[in-house]
Amino acid sequence: MIELVQDDITRIEADAIVNAANSSLLGGGGVDGAIHRAGGKAILEACRKIRARQGGCPTGEAVITTAGNLPAKFVIHTVGPVWHGGHNQEEALLRSAYTNSLQCAIENDVRSIAFPNISTGVYRFPKEKAAEIAIRSVREFLAARDDSLKVIFVCFDSENYRLYQRLLAPA
Ligand code: ADP
Repeated sequence: MIELVQDDITRIEADAIVNAANSSLLGGGGVDGAIHRAGGKAILEACRKIRARQGGCPTGEAVITTAGNLPAKFVIHTVGPVWHGGHNQEEALLRSAYTNSLQCAIENDVRSIAFPNISTGVYRFPKEKAAEIAIRSVREFLAARDDSLKVIFVCFDSENYRLYQRLLAPA
């Protein structure tokens, strides 16, 4: 099941919210900064432990931590690709970021998961292409793996929100 909202993802009461992290897992700007600020230092401590064990998170992969003080139970940190013009596997890596986050959710008995618009901020992925990939990846995962998982697309800016409204509308 897919839902769409325009909101700040740190306010969403899902089992898991997804963070558009960077490979260092040490926090950054944008949604990453907002999640660490609102969630408190427990999230960063958990990220540091993962870093010590596996040296960060490669692009397209996902790791899970506590959500600290947030209303969600978990934060799934995934690393979207930086857009370099489209010839560096950007589309496949963005798809992997969504699919590996969903896989991570299933493995941790998550029943509802909220996604921000991964890579569409400082990583500069074109918004419409990113929205198409996000929606297709999620729809295919739900159809193949778990139709009962609730997926919430959380758009922060109205441009993304309008794009998702249009792309999610029945044909
Ligand atoms: P990236 O480095 O993956 O591009 P950014 O955080 O710069 O990550 O941007 C990703 C998306 O997150 C952007 O569309 C931006 O508008 C959105 N965003 C920023 N802050 C929040 C927030 N608090 N909640 C939800 N989405 C947010």
